[in-house]
Amino acid sequence: MMAWIDLIVCILLLALLAYVFISVTITVLHKVYLMFHFFMTLWPLCQFAIQVTDSPRLQLLYVKIAFVDLALLAVGWLFFTLLLTKRTLPARKGLPVLIALPACLAAAIVISNPNGMFVQPLHGQYAERSYGPLFWLTSLVLIGYGVVSLWVIHSALSASRADRIKKQVTQVLRGMVVVMAFIGADILVNVVFRVSSMVIPGLTSAGILLSAVFFIVAIHRDKVFDLLKIAHQDIINTINLGILVLDDNEIIVETNRSLPAFLDLHIGDRFEIAAILPDAGTGTSGTFIAKYKNDPLESPEIDVLYEKGDRRHVHIHVSPIVVGGTRVGRIITFQDRSRLRQLIEETAKQNEILQERNQTLSEMQQELHLTNQKLQQMAITDGLTGCFNRNYITQQLEQEVRNHIERHIPFSILLLDIDFFKLINDRYGHLTGDEVICSTVNVIKQTLRDTDILARFGGEEFIVYLPFTGSEAALELAERIRAAVEANKMMVPGLKNALSVTVSIGLLSVDRFPLDLIPGSMTLISELFQSVDHVLYQAKREGRNRVVSASK
Ligand code: GH3
Ligand code: MG
Ligand code: MG
Repeated sequence: MMAWIDLIVCILLLALLAYVFISVTITVLHKVYLMFHFFMTLWPLCQFAIQVTDSPRLQLLYVKIAFVDLALLAVGWLFFTLLLTKRTLPARKGLPVLIALPACLAAAIVISNPNGMFVQPLHGQYAERSYGPLFWLTSLVLIGYGVVSLWVIHSALSASRADRIKKQVTQVLRGMVVVMAFIGADILVNVVFRVSSMVIPGLTSAGILLSAVFFIVAIHRDKVFDLLKIAHQDIINTINLGILVLDDNEIIVETNRSLPAFLDLHIGDRFEIAAILPDAGTGTSGTFIAKYKNDPLESPEIDVLYEKGDRRHVHIHVSPIVVGGTRVGRIITFQDRSRLRQLIEETAKQNEILQERNQTLSEMQQELHLTNQKLQQMAITDGLTGCFNRNYITQQLEQEVRNHIERHIPFSILLLDIDFFKLINDRYGHLTGDEVICSTVNVIKQTLRDTDILARFGGEEFIVYLPFTGSEAALELAERIRAAVEANKMMVPGLKNALSVTVSIGLLSVDRFPLDLIPGSMTLISELFQSVDHVLYQAKREGRNRVVSASK
């Protein structure tokens, strides 16, 4: 009973080991491999146990354990190979059970050893033994697993796969070949061609050991289990941010590919902050360096412009790595912001151009507005005298007089014509004639009120509209105009005496509003003009330089 205590303790320890590697977060590959390795250690252990005991019963037990272990190794190997070559089994229910079935059968044969058909003792001991036909059947099954594993490896190698996986698979292939060669040799030397009672021990164990060495080399050299480290390295190297890790003594312990090459920073070198700043010690970089050196727990940052070769704007950020309140190193990141800067500068430039264009456009708009105003003015103004033209007054009065008449608001219209103007033209020329027209217009303007409208009707004829003006006031105003024109003395170059003209004025006042005032076919304004024209001719006929009035 005492002897079993140690065994129970051993089994419990193994169970704890199994619990640990099932529960910790390692990859499935880790777990499968550890399990596999455990079963590998079992074979040489059993071989040792067989040799050290004299009890045939125990020896048989160890033989059985060893061969059951071998069967488990065979099927485990196949699964491990499938996992390593990333082969996915067809998703058929029960397929893994089917794959494990021959191994289970072999194990059952080994355990039951019917009529000693698997193994029989020699000289009553199992330290030396002879194997029966079921041993060969079992061996065949195990070799079958080996062959299938080799085929899986072969197909994985011929399929185009990543280099890393190919290397691992090749290494496993070597391990398999070695273990199979050693098992083969063991069978040949110690079972088939066994001469005399000489046994070469440990052949299969050595094969298992060697294949384990191959696995471990594969695991280490090709970093099969370093999944997290590889992922971390991949991230570090593909990230678009230069990363530099320093230890507590400012020695570079990690760099990545995005680190600007011109900084010439390498793992193992001592880092000097001032050496990576182009204008070390001056301005903002002086403050940055001081902060870096004096406050190691701070996170200083700075924008640096490197002008050697390509201009580069780099943002440098330093942060301490703190573990348990103690600084153990620093991470310095380098972010290339040149493209960003370039974009900002380009946008600013575009904005400037746009603003300039806008300015030009608004200037043009203003010019256009002024031109339009001028055009509008020109359309209603007489070119020679600057007063309104006939078109304007006609349009303007059409609605206004109608309103006035409807509302019985008095108004008057004067029609003026310079007397004997042809004579002026004939005597002094057309240009003098023009000056006389302009001068006369000025005199008339000065006599008028702000609300009165003066327009050139044609040639040397003018019309004056006097709103809110009845016949009396209008007559007075007309008289004043007539007298002012007559009194206007004009100096003409090359002429000794001053020149003066007179005007005849027809006056029409609308202040009585007879019922027939609103016309039928002709427009109201034409009718009024015709009436005033009529009285103007009367004034001419009566001797000129006078006012003749009519009213309605
Ligand atoms: P009346 O007293 O009957 O009005 O005699 P008048 O000579 O003024 O005769 P009328 O009104 O028929 O002649 C007007 C003349 O004015 C004819 C034309 O040669 C002249 N005239 C018309 N427009 C202009 C102008 O813009 N400039 C100049 N210099 N002369 C003009
Ligand atoms: Mg005339
Ligand atoms: Mg005239």
